[in-house]
Amino acid sequence: VDMPDVRGREKLFEVHTKAPFKLDDNVNLANLAKATPTFSGADISNMANEAALLAAKQNKETVDSDCFEEAKDRVMMGPERKSMILTEEQKRLTAYHEAGHAIVGRIVPEHDPVYKVTIIPRGRALGVTMFLPEDDKYMQSKEYLLSRICTLYGGRIAEQLINGERNITTGASNDIEVATGIATNMVTKWGLSDKVGPLKFGEDDSSPFLGRSASQSSKTYSDETSKLIDSEIKDIINSCYERAETILKDNMDKLHTMAEALLKYETIDQHQIDDIMSGAEPREPSDWNDNNEPPKKSTKESSIKGPAEEL
Ligand code: ZN
Repeated sequence: VDMPDVRGREKLFEVHTKAPFKLDDNVNLANLAKATPTFSGADISNMANEAALLAAKQNKETVDSDCFEEAKDRVMMGPERKSMILTEEQKRLTAYHEAGHAIVGRIVPEHDPVYKVTIIPRGRALGVTMFLPEDDKYMQSKEYLLSRICTLYGGRIAEQLINGERNITTGASNDIEVATGIATNMVTKWGLSDKVGPLKFGEDDSSPFLGRSASQSSKTYSDETSKLIDSEIKDIINSCYERAETILKDNMDKLHTMAEALLKYETIDQHQIDDIMSGAEPREPSDWNDNNEPPKKSTKESSIKGPAEEL
């Protein structure tokens, strides 16, 4: 099923916010549609439901833009799991891991802008760095894909720079899986490797009606080609990894500032990230007030032990 474009999303928002839905005057459906590229019809339906639930929970007469904002986070990142207690050291490691993603994502060319970074566990993740394109994306450039791979390794590299080679965790497993998938598709499907050329390799999944048996993983290319494909995938990954490592080494001050901001505020958005990237101290989040107790300062400097979840 094709994803809805911006007009399609606006129509879907209209459908899902019809009476008896009590839409507040401060909600602009056209703006919501613009701010939700990559959202499917089901995502939009979920977002409207979540927004209504949040309004009811907060005893609001109408569903206002704050409800929609929080509902959007829930749909994008999964609901917060505040009951999940992380140790100070786990929080610290998560903060550095996420800051690593965010900083690399900010510096590499053509990357989607960072939308939010949080160390509040959501879904299966201990922390999340969300990027959201500004417009609907109908195709992706080679530069964009390389930048994404760099950003995916930013988390692991930040862990390594802070805690040392021996204390890196399994927290990057999903990042590694996604990055490897992108690099593999670049070489075997999308014709984005000079050495391999614009050819398609691997099983044909474009004709599902033929059934699995018709497209068994019968290789139609030589061992030599197979080796070339493997080495190209590795080259892409290695060069992106090195680029990301250089970026983080050159921006250690910002890495520390962002990790500290995450430990203090738990969630930061593009405004705080703008401040940090310009070398300033981050402003307080707009919903921050003095009643928010900053979490206790970590005193332990030991490293995380035991299994970690995806970050
Ligand atoms: Zn990660």
